[in-house]
Amino acid sequence: MSTKSFRLALDVGGTNLAAAVVDQEYHILSRESIPAGAGRSIDEITSDMAKVSRMAVQKAGLTLEDMSFWGIGMPSCVNSKTNLLVHANCFGWKNVPIYDYLKKNMPLPVRVENDANAAAYGELIAGAARGYKNALMVTLGTGVGGGIIIDGKIYAGADNLGGQIGHTKLVYDGELCTCGQKGCLEAYCSATALIKFAKRAGLYNSGSKEDAQTVFRFAKEGNPLAMKLIDDYVSYLAAGLSSLIAIFRPEIIIIGGGVSAAGEQLFVPLRQKLENCTFGAAQSGLPPVVCAELGNDAGLIGAAYLDMQNQ
Ligand SMILES: [Zn+2]
Repeated sequence: MSTKSFRLALDVGGTNLAAAVVDQEYHILSRESIPAGAGRSIDEITSDMAKVSRMAVQKAGLTLEDMSFWGIGMPSCVNSKTNLLVHANCFGWKNVPIYDYLKKNMPLPVRVENDANAAAYGELIAGAARGYKNALMVTLGTGVGGGIIIDGKIYAGADNLGGQIGHTKLVYDGELCTCGQKGCLEAYCSATALIKFAKRAGLYNSGSKEDAQTVFRFAKEGNPLAMKLIDDYVSYLAAGLSSLIAIFRPEIIIIGGGVSAAGEQLFVPLRQKLENCTFGAAQSGLPPVVCAELGNDAGLIGAAYLDMQNQ
């Protein structure tokens, strides 16, 4: 019997293609992952995207007949006017007719969305922003991703090309960003940026792991250099978020990504700095700033339900 009550999700990254089957209660029933194999042809990679997704269906003991939808999150975006995937830096793709490739390999309705938007939507329907309709999510990882949810829907602006929170401008002609521009939020607030500043300041010694957690750990231990690095980091983040609050005034802000694992060591000073620098904070308070709940599953759960965006 075909129930069509399950959904298929795929999270595409430069390293792995991770698929999952999601049920009506937003639970992940099965997962499969294979290497992304960046550098291969679009045909090969998109065929593998379908392959790993079918593997997840099989693992759940289901068939494609049981699936109503295939949702895909990628570090890219599809121009809604041209239907082309604008860029996927992890694969070196530019303006790819992605849906043509995907439909060749999978007989399900499909939608591709920016992975950070998918994660924000996942947190909205099943995670830290449950019950809210207007939320912002910022992911502090290798890069800075972000998702804007307005009235329950992903907001991505004209042609679906907006919502690029990581590339909002903090400093004119500032630090070089991965996008080729300078001074973006990502160039100051990604884990990569924190590591870059820590290296530049000579924080890491021969025995220490050169990651973001190490900077937080040193700061906790009272290392003045690390404390200064974290203070600067939080200042940049507060500046970026306060602009977003002034523009969107979300009901809640969710912080995800590897850096969010620092917990209250990040959130306490962040809330404090937001109080100091945000428009209207003294009169109207601030939206709650909370840690994401679903981790990497947010992107999968959000992707699985992307078709709800059309309703
Ligand atoms: Zn940028």
